[in-house]
Amino acid sequence: MKFKRGDILKLQNYIAEKQTVTVITHYNPDGDAVGSGTALFHYLKLLLKDVHFIIPNNVPYSINFLLQDVDYTIAERDFKKAKQRLMQTDLLFMVDINNYSRCGDNLERVLKEISPSTVLIDHHVGPQAYDVVFSYPDASSTCEAVWNVLNRLSGKKIFPQNISRALYTGIMTDTGSLSFSCNHPELYTVIANLLKSGIVASKINQKIFDTYSADRLSLLGYAISKKLKVFPKQRAAFIALSAKELNDFHYQAGDLEGVVNYCLKLEQVDFCALLSERDNKIRMSFRSKDESIDVNKFAMKYWNGGGHVMASGGKSFLPLKQVVEILTKQIYNKEFIVRN
Ligand code: 5GP
Ligand code: MN
Repeated sequence: MKFKRGDILKLQNYIAEKQTVTVITHYNPDGDAVGSGTALFHYLKLLLKDVHFIIPNNVPYSINFLLQDVDYTIAERDFKKAKQRLMQTDLLFMVDINNYSRCGDNLERVLKEISPSTVLIDHHVGPQAYDVVFSYPDASSTCEAVWNVLNRLSGKKIFPQNISRALYTGIMTDTGSLSFSCNHPELYTVIANLLKSGIVASKINQKIFDTYSADRLSLLGYAISKKLKVFPKQRAAFIALSAKELNDFHYQAGDLEGVVNYCLKLEQVDFCALLSERDNKIRMSFRSKDESIDVNKFAMKYWNGGGHVMASGGKSFLPLKQVVEILTKQIYNKEFIVRN
C-alpha cells in the first residue's frame, strides 16, 4: 500500500495537537464499518484521552461484540449527543465512507456545518477531498487500509487484541470470508499479523457468521425458495422483499447481511440485486462476479448509490412494486452493464 509523502507526518501532528477526536462511519454499518471504527478508536485511545465513535444507526447484532469498551453514540437513538460531539470535535476520522452523505441526511447536515481537521480512511472509489485522504479502492476492506495506516504510523506489525479482532472482523465480512477482493498476497500478511496478537480466528468467525436467529435463517430460506427471480438469458437475478415480509420474520438490523451473495451462487448468474423495503425507502444491494459488469457505475447512474465494481448499493423512494418493474426492465435491456 503506497502512502503519499507527508500524509503520515500530517496525521502524527494532528494526533499530537488535537484534543477532541471523533470517528464516524456509514449509515447501516457493517462489519467493515464497525471494525475499522472500533479498531481506530482503540488505537487512538492509547494516545489520547478524548476519543468517541459515532455510528449513524443500529449495529447488526452479529458484530455488536466489537462495541465492548468503546465510547460510542448511535446517532439515530441520541441525535442531540452525536451533534454536540461533532460540534466539539477538532479531529474527525471518516472510515469506510468516501463522503459525508454516506452518514445519512441528519448527520450530513451537521458535518457540513463543522470544520475539524478531517482524515479519511476508505476503500470506495471516488473519495471527496479532505485534509488527509487514505483511499485504497484495491484494498479488500477499510480494515485492511486501517492496518496499513496504523503500521506506518506506529512502525508496529502487531497490535493489541481489541484492535486485531476488530480489523479481522472487517476483513472477513467485506471479503465474504476471503472469497472476493482477496487476490493480493499482502492481505494474507496483514491477516497473519492480526492472528499473531493471539486472537482466535475460528472463534471470531463463529461470532460473525454463526449466530443467526431462527427467524433470520427462515427469512433466508423464504427469500431463496419463494422470492428469487432468475433471468437466465441475461445471466441476472434478484430478490425483492417488502416491509411486511420482513416484519413477518421479525426483521432485525443485519438479518439481510449476505443474502444478496446467495444469488451469485447460481452458475448461470453474473449480476444480482437484493431489494428490501426498510426505513421508508427501498434499499438495494448489487453484486457482480464479472469485472466487466461494474455495479458501482450501475448504482451511481440509476439508483442514487455507489460502492465498488463488484459490490454496491443504492436506494429509491418509489414504491417497491415500481422499483421491481424498473429493475426488471433494466435486466431485460441489460442496462446493468454500464459502458463509459
Ligand atoms: P451492501 O449491499 O452490502 O449494503 O453494500 C455494498 C457496498 O456498496 C458497500 O461497500 C457499501 O459501502 C456500498 N454502498 C451501499 N449502499 C450505498 C449507497 O447508498 N451509496 C454508496 N455510495 N455506496 C453504497
Ligand atoms: Mn467496506
